[in-house]
Amino acid sequence: MKLYRPTEECGIFGIYGHPEAANLTYLGLYALQHRGQEACGIVSSDGRSLYTHRSMGLVADVFGNQEIFGNLPGESAIGHVRYSTTGDSVLKNVQPIKVDYSRGSIAIAHNGNLVNAQYIKDELEAWGSIFQTTMDTEVILHLLATSKHSSLEDRIIDALGRIKGAYCLLFLTETRMVAARDPHGFRPLCLGKLGDAWVVASESCALDLIEAEFVREIEPGEIVVITKDGLTSHFPHKKIEPAPCIFEFVYFARPDSYIFGKNVYQVRKDFGRQLCREHRIDADIVIPVPDSGVPAALGYAQEAGIPFELGLIRNHYVGRTFIEPQQSIRHFGVKIKLNPVREVLKGKRVVVIDDSIVRGTTSRKIVKMVRNAGASEVHVRISSPPTSYPCYYGIDTPTRKELISSSHTIEEIRKYITADSLGYLSEEGLLQAVGAGSNPFCKACFSGGYPITFPRLMAEPQLDLF
Ligand code: AMP
Repeated sequence: MKLYRPTEECGIFGIYGHPEAANLTYLGLYALQHRGQEACGIVSSDGRSLYTHRSMGLVADVFGNQEIFGNLPGESAIGHVRYSTTGDSVLKNVQPIKVDYSRGSIAIAHNGNLVNAQYIKDELEAWGSIFQTTMDTEVILHLLATSKHSSLEDRIIDALGRIKGAYCLLFLTETRMVAARDPHGFRPLCLGKLGDAWVVASESCALDLIEAEFVREIEPGEIVVITKDGLTSHFPHKKIEPAPCIFEFVYFARPDSYIFGKNVYQVRKDFGRQLCREHRIDADIVIPVPDSGVPAALGYAQEAGIPFELGLIRNHYVGRTFIEPQQSIRHFGVKIKLNPVREVLKGKRVVVIDDSIVRGTTSRKIVKMVRNAGASEVHVRISSPPTSYPCYYGIDTPTRKELISSSHTIEEIRKYITADSLGYLSEEGLLQAVGAGSNPFCKACFSGGYPITFPRLMAEPQLDLF
């Protein structure tokens, strides 16, 4: 049986009512590239038809030729950047997906991961539906096309009522754009304005690039419908406790973005400050693992009163380590990406700050690199708690078996990465730093407390957790 691949680690962008819709979507996707580097696409509408350009590759490569925009006419467009694990990384799985059905054409772009897609797919196939992709997103289109309701809004509400999991969605038809965020609000989504045009983006950094004004975040459970007559907002779902993903703050979102009511950079810096309060150590310098460790390292250094230095330099022309899925290539990947500055590290007691340890490969390489460059002591500090559980809501984490902290103690991990000491930010410290208070987060990757249970079918191919 062909199992659904979750739609993981994606970014979405849409604009309605601007003569340069496709061009601006291209720029928006550029700003969201960190959310997915494998493939991207844009669908535009000129009020009569939808037009598509999608391909594997980075935004700059896929849309590098200006002529492409001549084939994406119209005043509205949606776009998508995608990361997926190997196996199903083929063109047919690139988004946005566009279909023609009895009511016209519709395109969809999805960030997140549905937990009951396989179940619905089996049901629909039993009734004769034919699926073209292996993405959970296609299930939503089928539900929408087969809905008994007549208006688009009601069909979307009907379809969303059937799905469970994490989703931020953008729909585009000939005449409308619809944005939807799941009731838990796992992934971020914001609303902006550029002149008279409405803009929707995964992160506010995409609004900044096109000089759109940040209006507000789209609320958990909200559906926003945009037509030539303006914007309407709907809350059709039963209200539940939100559970935005804390890992967006730890690693995934861009530091200049504003998500879940906060600026990511400030939150990461506070993680670093709190980490220092919990795991202070005498040292000569604090260095980040660039780029994701930089704000936390600044926070740690300021709190500790120890100089912040750049002891590792990153080659920015290499993708994220995680993109190369095989262990053999990943080992190589760290060296390609980072090089030590010997003059900074020689003879120094060094605190190295990173945002997370997943498999442990990166930290092990980095400790060795820093020591070989002459450091006398290497202390590793991680600005999040041990990542012990896989994510089913849209962050690509490996299976439980591969997560080093799911089966090893902190002392065992310290030995494995050969650090002189190792300290993780506590879960309480993390929540305190993010100012969680009465505002809860999904922290399933740290605690195993999953806000939505998922069918066994989905869990099976990925882990031996149950
Ligand atoms: P590892 O070598 O598997 O322990 O990877 C740890 C590194 O991966 C850290 O430097 C993190 O910044 C980074 N990282 C953590 N989570 C992810 C993710 N979901 N995708 C890509 N990189 C990640």
